[in-house]
Amino acid sequence: MNKEFNRPEPIIEVGQVFKVQFTDLTHTGQGIAKISGKNLKGVEYFNFPVFVPLAAIGDQGIIELTQIKKDYALGKFVKLFPDKKSPDHVPIKCKHYPDCGGCNIMHLSYQAQCDFKTKMVKRTLERIGKLTDVEVKPIIGMDNPWYYRNKVQVPFGERRGKTIGGFYRLNSHEVIPLEECHIQSEEMTEIIKFTKNLLNEFKIKGYDEQKHQGEIRHVLIRESRKTSEIMVVLVCLNDIKEKLTGLVGKLIKRHPRIVSIYLNINKDRTNEILGDETILLHGKEAIVDELLGIKFNISPKSFFQVNPEQTERLYSQVLELGDFSKDDIVIDAYCGIGTISLAIAPHVKHVFGVEVVEDAIKDAKKNALQNEIFNATFVCNEAEKQLELWQQSGIKAQAIVVDPPRKGCDKRLLQTIVEMRIPKMIYVSCDPATLARDLRFLIDQGYTVDTVQPVDMFPQTYHVETVVLMSRAKE
Ligand code: SAH
Repeated sequence: MNKEFNRPEPIIEVGQVFKVQFTDLTHTGQGIAKISGKNLKGVEYFNFPVFVPLAAIGDQGIIELTQIKKDYALGKFVKLFPDKKSPDHVPIKCKHYPDCGGCNIMHLSYQAQCDFKTKMVKRTLERIGKLTDVEVKPIIGMDNPWYYRNKVQVPFGERRGKTIGGFYRLNSHEVIPLEECHIQSEEMTEIIKFTKNLLNEFKIKGYDEQKHQGEIRHVLIRESRKTSEIMVVLVCLNDIKEKLTGLVGKLIKRHPRIVSIYLNINKDRTNEILGDETILLHGKEAIVDELLGIKFNISPKSFFQVNPEQTERLYSQVLELGDFSKDDIVIDAYCGIGTISLAIAPHVKHVFGVEVVEDAIKDAKKNALQNEIFNATFVCNEAEKQLELWQQSGIKAQAIVVDPPRKGCDKRLLQTIVEMRIPKMIYVSCDPATLARDLRFLIDQGYTVDTVQPVDMFPQTYHVETVVLMSRAKE
């Protein structure tokens, strides 16, 4: 034992090299190889896992250990044997991969990515939720898993007296100039490059995080798939409205699809991108996009799913699994700007949406009116508290949709669902681990899992979205 830290001496050391074969992937898409052997002190180790980025199942090669943890080690490739390279590999499309950190499984073919995600959901449900006999349907993927993102936030900084914008190098805050990106639209990439040139032309300095000085911190771009409208938000340390006039004029001339330009002021030393004050510099307050025929206003701070094509597939799954009828009362917990509620509303008697962010609820109400949907009620509250209020007021819901953030549902919310004896529950999850935990709780309280359907909202990354239909056993 190493007395100082009261933990066992490491059995292996950083810098050691091993010849390995990769047999599996971690939930973040790193290759897993197992190493066995005996160290200089004679301690034996057997099947000790090592995680290596950019590896695929089947790869054989030489790796070097870079970090030793208690139950596993991290490593990097020294060499991948060319004749022992997994067929899952595809040529890497982007020069910034994997430094940018935006994509993490781009080296895998899209089929391999999809298989990985389906398997990951199944395994996580088994491991964390002890759901051993549940069928996980193959993930619903995209026909073209590129250029799908409708939103991008680009950090700006300074290098050798020039303003640059791009992305933070993986695990750091060093700004690297963006030259290409294959998951956002090509026009957004062009706008980023052109804006960078304009910022230099108008001598607007990039932000220096250390010194907390400079002018431009971030550029945020949102694009509507349906209407093609584009919004640009220039996030600055101070109010430099006057200085931006020329830039705005040139930007809209070159990119006429930009119909809205904002200045957002963020004076704080913070990792949050947007500050409190937002000033419209040009055009419309919001851009309009459409999902399943319903129009949504998107303002600089609105939450809107980043992959609209797959969002429609996701919501269609909610409708299909929900199999709603005109007499149903449905609750939509964690409703955001009301996207799921408004997609459901035409098929049911009434929808009750609850969401904790006040601006989102304002947007949800506006969206309902704009689409002439009058059978949706939106309340700003914590879902767990509001559901209790609805329970007390005697609302009898036939179904509930929950779409919580990564940390999953509050226990109280799940408890109230059980107490209200809601017959049907549709869980939309962006984190299989918390999904598994929450499903276990509901199963122990008398629910059964009917369908598990993953949807690929984020190709080239390890993130996976899952829709689950549960029902309450008949008494
Ligand atoms: N269903 C929406 C939004 C899902 S994102 C859509 O598909 O667009 C999850 C939402 O949960 C966010 O809008 C977040 O603000 C909200 N949220 C987080 N914690 C909450 C809580 N305790 N109660 C209600 N809403 C919450």
